[in-house]
Amino acid sequence: MLLLKDVRLLQFLPPEVRDGMDVLIDGNRIVKVGRNLAPVSAPERTIDLAGNLVSPGIVCSHNHFYSALARGILADIKPATDFVSILQNLWWRLDRAIDEEILYYSGLIGAIEAVRAGTTAVIDHHASPGFIGGSLQTLRKAFEEVGLRGILCYEVTDRNGGSQMRQGIDENIRFAQSAKGGLLEAAIGAHAAFTLGEEALSLLSEALRATGSGLHIHAAEDSYDSAASHHLYQMDLMQRLESRNLLDAKTICAHGVHLTAADIGKLNEHDCFLVHNARSNMNNGVGYAEKMGAVRNVALGTDGIGSDMFEEMKFAYFKHRDAGGPLWPANFLAFLHNGTRLLERYFPGSFQRIEAGSVADLVIYDYRNPTPLVGENIGGHMAFGFSAGSVKTVIINGSIVYEDRRFPFDLDPIYEKANRAAKALWKRMDEIS
Ligand SMILES: [Zn+2]
Repeated sequence: MLLLKDVRLLQFLPPEVRDGMDVLIDGNRIVKVGRNLAPVSAPERTIDLAGNLVSPGIVCSHNHFYSALARGILADIKPATDFVSILQNLWWRLDRAIDEEILYYSGLIGAIEAVRAGTTAVIDHHASPGFIGGSLQTLRKAFEEVGLRGILCYEVTDRNGGSQMRQGIDENIRFAQSAKGGLLEAAIGAHAAFTLGEEALSLLSEALRATGSGLHIHAAEDSYDSAASHHLYQMDLMQRLESRNLLDAKTICAHGVHLTAADIGKLNEHDCFLVHNARSNMNNGVGYAEKMGAVRNVALGTDGIGSDMFEEMKFAYFKHRDAGGPLWPANFLAFLHNGTRLLERYFPGSFQRIEAGSVADLVIYDYRNPTPLVGENIGGHMAFGFSAGSVKTVIINGSIVYEDRRFPFDLDPIYEKANRAAKALWKRMDEIS
């Protein structure tokens, strides 16, 4: 058992702050929350937090750990003038250059940096066409070594031919059938509708039925995705996915920048999630997701730009204000909170609140509020105050994985090997035309 003494509980939805609380954890669950709980005796542990803030776990709802070693990339990359060229010149060369070792260090660095930023779960969307079979197990190893929770999938696509498309389907099914229990769950991954033909959609639909998982796909990130659906299939994007029974309450659509009102109607009708990735959209210049407020379930993701959800929420909010939108920090706090609702569609147990019975995924902060911090202004403190630097300790599935800003393992050799793997990756990219 683990007893957290004297904490200020921070709940995101409905927003609430409660002082002087104790939280008792047994196994992977919170078993009691209250004032002046009886101390636990050794070897059980009591941590006196002297009024530190504690929130439920933070979720990054769309990420690509395979891109963790792309930071500051020095490779011969042709300039791109549009979104599809960015994919062709950079990302589709990078993912083809990934081997098992490069993927392992990408995953390890991704997981370490996520936890350090207070992110307790990452929903990853993976591609490595040169290493498909076993890739999700390699990622699983990286997540488990750091103690990070995740939902993994392999990105199925027709862009490298039918054989690789089918290998991607097999990797998703194999992982989904082995993933049950513990820190990792499985989704069924697909790149984007514009790189998926009719056979691929049928196989994805069968994979959903066979595993009970949900589809994780990029949707209308660029206007090209919607235009291709109209041009090649005479259907709206979501209509095409719906016609293959690919939409349900476990569906995770990333971006949705160019969804039509009819598309959004379908997302809401099937209770799907839309993940907004503000920094990635800005970086790729794909446009702004102005209609986001009309989507019932919006969560936030980074699309491969690290896993710092404080930074991501700030960018999402400031970009929205810059675009003249009607939403306020409390709305973006609710979007961040929605990541815990999305987790509940994949994992047993509840993640939304710090209360008896919830899964013990918790973030402890040493954020000092220079102005009053109450339920009504948590969003304001998040948009203008909190940062990843406020994160002190992280508990995932009842285990302390990061304490007083330290991991229980040595980071130096990992970062050294990651640098070596990054150099190998960049070199291999130059060898791939
Ligand atoms: Zn993405």
